[in-house]
Amino acid sequence: MTGLFKQALLVGGETVDVRVGTGGLITEVQGELTPADGETVEDLDGRLLLSAPAEPHAHLDKALTADAVPNPSGDLMGAINAWRAHGYDSTVDDIHRRARAAVLRGLAHGITAVRSHVNVLDPSGVIPVEALLRLRDELGHLVEIQLVGLVAQPDTQPGNYRLLQEALDMGVDVVGGCPHVEADRREVLRLTLDLAGERGLPIDLHTDENLNPESRDLLDLARTVRSTGFESGVVASHCVSLGMMDAGEQQAIAHEVAEAGVGVIALPQTNLFLQGRDHPTATPRGLTALRALDQAGVVVAGGADNVQDPFNSMGRVDPFETASLLVMAGHLLPHEAWSWVTDRARLVMGLDPIEIAPGSQADLMAVRAGSVREAVASAPTDRVIIKGGRVVARTTVAQEFPGLS
Ligand SMILES: [Zn+2]
Repeated sequence: MTGLFKQALLVGGETVDVRVGTGGLITEVQGELTPADGETVEDLDGRLLLSAPAEPHAHLDKALTADAVPNPSGDLMGAINAWRAHGYDSTVDDIHRRARAAVLRGLAHGITAVRSHVNVLDPSGVIPVEALLRLRDELGHLVEIQLVGLVAQPDTQPGNYRLLQEALDMGVDVVGGCPHVEADRREVLRLTLDLAGERGLPIDLHTDENLNPESRDLLDLARTVRSTGFESGVVASHCVSLGMMDAGEQQAIAHEVAEAGVGVIALPQTNLFLQGRDHPTATPRGLTALRALDQAGVVVAGGADNVQDPFNSMGRVDPFETASLLVMAGHLLPHEAWSWVTDRARLVMGLDPIEIAPGSQADLMAVRAGSVREAVASAPTDRVIIKGGRVVARTTVAQEFPGLS
């Protein structure tokens, strides 16, 4: 059955009707369309219609644990140590319950695709993978879920490397890791590329998540990708140290990253939380070199990363929150920031961008706002979320001011 969405305000200011065909693709966008027999009609009542956002970097297995797993120091090693001390006893049911709550919160906010890293290490093994695969089976028709196997010390702990292989056998889609916290980061990089290459899978690595301007994991990654001819898709997440270098170094590295075809995901929320705690004055923002990467032609996206866990005690699973931080802390323009959490987020996930035009997948979000800037600034609660032409989430609010006469 086709669907007709009436009275949608487009970013350009035009009000249109949008028809979606049985395959979930947009078939018509016109000033006014007449409902066909049996067609489902949804009146968007002048809401701003946007392409649905995607979350390119989450940690669903850790979501919503901030109260149970506190991180008093607030920095990255404090978070890792807190998780090691408390996080391993989670059960499949517990992880599934928390991850499900986070995904549905994101869906209500418009997220119809999410890439989540998932721990694969001793002693929790593949328990988190089991939980998130169960979630993908359950909610995959509403939210496209990609999983990244996040391994630690694969060079020194062969058991962890075998767990990563097991996770990939189970259905994990992407090979991950954190070279910047490893003893032999280049060996970890080699292992990662070899394993992903054997299986024809993409790579998504936590990279340079520190404020050391000498850190060069992003550059090593770009050069290794070029020298090996790896072709299955590479993403580097965080890349914070690049933001600490001088402009010339930023441009030179950004150029090599672009040439290697490596995408970058900036994660303002977690890095504003974790980084810079040992710089009490003129505290660095903990963001990568957004402009230098963008101007070099790198596909740069924005993500929310951790949500209310020891790595970030805040977070609402809302792309408007991420976009707002990219404007406030990263000095992007609002429409740029919105592109980074929508089209660019899908691109780094290997998904086609969405357009409000015939032929595009009808993953859409309608909000009460007059412009992208207003939507990012206001993060309206009132939202209608559309996946493949079907309304999959709807939030409405009732507001009163009884004291006003
Ligand atoms: Zn992460």
